[in-house]
Amino acid sequence: MARNRFFIDHIQEEVALTGDEFRHAKNVLRLREGSELSLLDGSGAEYSAVVAKVERDRMLVHVLEKKAGDREPHTNVCLFIGALKGDKTELVVQKAVELGASKIGVFSSRYCAAYMNENKLERLNRVSREAAKQCMRSVAPEVVYFETFEEALKSANGYQNKLFACEFLEKSEGDIKGISGSVALVVGSEGGFSEEEFALAKSYGFTGVSLGKRILRAETAAIALLSVVMYEAGELR
Ligand code: SAH
Repeated sequence: MARNRFFIDHIQEEVALTGDEFRHAKNVLRLREGSELSLLDGSGAEYSAVVAKVERDRMLVHVLEKKAGDREPHTNVCLFIGALKGDKTELVVQKAVELGASKIGVFSSRYCAAYMNENKLERLNRVSREAAKQCMRSVAPEVVYFETFEEALKSANGYQNKLFACEFLEKSEGDIKGISGSVALVVGSEGGFSEEEFALAKSYGFTGVSLGKRILRAETAAIALLSVVMYEAGELR
């Protein structure tokens, strides 16, 4: 499959790249008539294609073959992360996509100092698509926002394992070793969690995990926790 990858909503035999995708294809990747590329519709399928014609504001592409993408993780892991300041949430989204998360939930909680809006959420989804293309995934995980922490916890209903990274826990309540089945992970923002939020998470079936004696930054905690879970689930070997 070609390294030039594009997400397009509806893929037919002939499709057109327009807007940002067109400019990226033409000016950055310098695709010309005859160049090979891959198209992704987010379903997990990958389509090999070839550039048929370059016009002033669009590129016409001819689709050759449909295949199932073979780089998607087998384990369904959702990462919930408190909204972080600056571009830290973007960093976490990018790394989570590379590490194989299936979905990313960003939430606001008691000690959360960052805010979210439509533009920021759209930007996070763009980061997810770019990261998915770069690491050769065929699905760009959706980034969703929860205005309250409880809504985020509720949406984790149905995951087989639910882990809550708790910075004030001396010892993990459960073991990540040998984990199998779907996993929901919760990591707090810079401000961390309150005892009440931990109690609420437990009432929704979450198990507290410690990441050791040092207090990690939120982005480090998210990447570290996702990495060990993915390793144990057999996705990083
Ligand atoms: N402001 C807090 C730290 C927050 S760290 C304080 O001063 O204590 C941000 C988030 O990273 C935490 O809410 C937790 O989810 C995770 N985290 C950081 N270090 C951790 C650790 N040692 N064990 C478990 N989770 C940790």
